This record gives sequence, structure tokens and C-alpha cells, in this order.
Amino acid sequence: MKLLVTGGCGFIGSAFVRLALSRGAEVVNLDKLTYAGNPANVADVADDEGYRFVHADIADAEAVAAAVPGVDAIVNFAAESHVDRSILDPTEFINTDVVGTAVLLEAARTAGVGRFVQVSTDEVYGSIPHGAFRETDPISPSSPYSASKAGGDLQVLAWHRTFGLDAVITRGSNTFGPRQYPEKLIPLFVTNALDGIQLPVYGDGMQIRDWIYVDDHCEGIWTALTEGAAGEVYNVGGGNEEPNLAITRRILDLTGRDGSLVRHVADRLGHDRRYALDTT
Ligand code: NAD
Repeated sequence: MKLLVTGGCGFIGSAFVRLALSRGAEVVNLDKLTYAGNPANVADVADDEGYRFVHADIADAEAVAAAVPGVDAIVNFAAESHVDRSILDPTEFINTDVVGTAVLLEAARTAGVGRFVQVSTDEVYGSIPHGAFRETDPISPSSPYSASKAGGDLQVLAWHRTFGLDAVITRGSNTFGPRQYPEKLIPLFVTNALDGIQLPVYGDGMQIRDWIYVDDHCEGIWTALTEGAAGEVYNVGGGNEEPNLAITRRILDLTGRDGSLVRHVADRLGHDRRYALDTT
């Protein structure tokens, strides 16, 4: 199986590249190398026979069309992925998460690619005070980031319904593990705590997230790729709900620091209170 993996130099994409190669797939990794993309994340597999890197933007139709021939499936990880950045400037989020996804879909349709996997997020459902979102629930995103991801999801479903493209969507929960850019909660707080720098906790810190380990998330994406039914959405959750403050305390314990490093800062605009996925 030959895969076009986009965003394979990022956090989850690089773990997926490693998983796919270990399962015998050939991988073409197409990545724009934004601030979040780091070739070092795939340095250990860069010389593998089955691996090739293409430095390109998923919104560049010509570059994408050139990378697609001969590919059995596209797995789209490429995204602007940080909520805080989307609040400061949503433009790149629309270009990559919405326009870029449409460019990939069109290239897949034109070239007759057999399967398209859209890697999405639990954030598209919005906040839920009790219970958990099912794949059939309507999406109700809150931030420019989750709205741009939702825009991508809707296009994937449209390309399936209108053109019969074989496409599936995965919606994963907050992911942790090695190689995550240190702007996200866990790597930021771990590195700050190690350096003795304050940990900026949004509001009361009681926002609840479900956490999944990066390789488990990739396993879910692999299962959707190889066993998913066309047109379906699959939630990929870890069943580990924690308030941000509990994660913060655990990081302080593990790094041998005390609560004096915690600094409560003004809450993020539009901050969702709780995400939860039904993974049955
Ligand atoms: P990341 O920010 O670590 O990596 C994104 C990668 O995409 C980088 O390598 C970057 O260079 C590349 N990229 C960005 N714009 C591009 C473009 N226009 N063309 C080509 N490449 C481009 O992201 P991540 O945390 O690994 O997330 C990967 C995917 O998983 C995203 O689609 C995200 O929405 C989704 N997701 C992430 C999480 C999480 O907790 N990190 C949870 C659920 C879903």
C-alpha cells in the first residue's frame, strides 16, 4: 500500500509515518514545514527505502497533483492546529484546514485515489457539559481552529456524497506523547516546570479534556484507514478525562516542583469547558 501522508513532520503525523512504515506501507510525506513541522521528527526513518519527502503546501494544487499518482490512499494530518494562534490570526487556518483539504480532495478525485482519511478533532463537536458526543451528533465548533477543521470535515463528507469519493474521518481527542511542539499544554508545562518558569493556567483550570497517547491515536487512524466504511466518522478517544489543573498538578509532581509555579491567567476567548467522545 502506498500512502500520501500530509503533515508527516508534525507531532501525530510523524508517529503515523513510523507506524505505517513498520506495517510495510510505502509513505510519501508531503509537508510545508511550518513552525510546527520538524524534519527531526522523522529523521530515524528518512533513509528507509519506502519513505520519500515532498516539501510542499497542501493548498498548492500543482504540487499536490504531482504527488498523488500511484498513491492508494491519502491520510491528511496537515493543519494549523493551535487554538490560541487561530484566535490571534485565523487566516492560515482557513488556507490550510479548509482550502488545503479541498485541494487534496480534488486531487484524490481526479487521480482516482482509493481512500481518503481526514484526521480531525473532537473540538469540532464543541463543548458538552455531561455525556459524550457520538459520531452522528451535529458539529458546533467554537474557535476559529475548530471551525476550520469542521469546514474540512464537511468538505470530505460532500466529496463522498457528491462524487462517491471513498473517504473516512477520524475525530481524536487531546493527544500527548513525544515530539509535540511546546506550545500545547503538556510539552509547554513540562518544559516550563523543568526550567522553573511559571505555568500559565487559563481561568480556573477546570476545563476538561480527554487524553489519548499519540501511538494509540495513530492506531485508531490506521484502523479507520484499513477497516473503516466509506462516508463514516470515527471517534478516537482515550477514556481519560482530566481537568487541565489536574494535568498541571501531575506535571508539577513529576518534575519535583510545587504549586507556586502555577499562574492563573485570563481565560482563553470562547474556551470550551468540556470535550468528551463516545467511543463505543
Ligand atoms: P502539528 O501542528 O504538530 O503538525 C502539523 C503539521 O502539518 C506540521 O508538520 C506542519 O508543517 C504541517 N503543515 C501545516 N500546514 C501545512 C500545509 N499548508 N501544507 C502541508 N503541511 C502543512 O499538528 P498535530 O498535533 O500533529 O495534529 C495533526 C492533525 O491531528 C491535525 O489535523 C489536528 O487537527 C489533528 N488533531 C490533533 C490533536 C492534538 O491533540 N494534537 C487532537 C486531535 C486531532
